[in-house]
Parts: sequence; structure tokens; C-alpha cells
Amino acid sequence: MISVGDKIDAYCLKCKLELAHVVLFKVDGVVSRVKCKTCGAEHKYRGTLPAAKKPAAARVSGVNRAKKPAAAKGTVNDSPQQWDLRSRNMPKGTSIRDYSVQETYKVKDVINHPKFGVGFVEKVASDKSIYVLFNDSVKLMAMNVTS
Ligand SMILES: [Zn+2]
Repeated sequence: MISVGDKIDAYCLKCKLELAHVVLFKVDGVVSRVKCKTCGAEHKYRGTLPAAKKPAAARVSGVNRAKKPAAAKGTVNDSPQQWDLRSRNMPKGTSIRDYSVQETYKVKDVINHPKFGVGFVEKVASDKSIYVLFNDSVKLMAMNVTS
């Protein structure tokens, strides 16, 4: 039976290793507090290994995966400035067409999207899609879609 002052193997949170500890005191015959012989830290006796080791590792890898798309977004988004410039330089009387996927648009057309607001057609990507500069970003929008 282990007594106070005896050596006991325990997991040290500071050293992050299973190391020799000294029993500091016991409560109701159970080892309660130990001192790490390596770093000298005193802590509650938890046994030899931390309980939730595997779930913690899984959580860490999940966080890393979630961070990747944000890190890849390295390009500078100057769309707000570009949009501001375009709307300032827009000639008076320019007709703004309500956006509809069934319509066909061309470069320099100005559209009004129900969600994104006013947009400037930057480029025709194909006969079915256009790049539109909105006030937050350039979006690829569908057009000329017939049902
Ligand atoms: Zn230690």
C-alpha cells in the first residue's frame, strides 16, 4: 500500500509525461495530492494518464481544417473601392436593370440584384454567365437561363 512520501507514477501536466511523483497526502486512503519529482509541481493525483486525451486531439485537427479556407484567402479584395469608383463615375441617366437569370447582359451593364444590390457587369464569362462587381466582391452570376 502506498503511503505519504512514497513514490508513485503519475501524469504530470507540466512535463506532459508519466513521471515519478511523491505522494503528498491521501484522503480516505486514496492518493489525493502528488508532487512531480522532475519539475517539482504539486497537483491533484489523476492517475497515470489524462482521461480525455483522444477527443482533445481530434478537436485540434478539426480546428486546423476549419482554419484552412480563411488562410487561403490571401488576395486583397479591392472590390469595395472599385465599386465606389464605378458608382461615382456612373453617367447620369444610366439605366439600372433588375437582375434576372433569364435576361442576357453585356459588359458595362448595370444591374440591381435583390440581395447584392447594384452591380456592374465586368466581364462576360460565357453565354450563360457574367462576372459582376458588387460592393463587397466580384461574383459570377448566371444569365440567359431558359427553363
Ligand atoms: Zn513535472
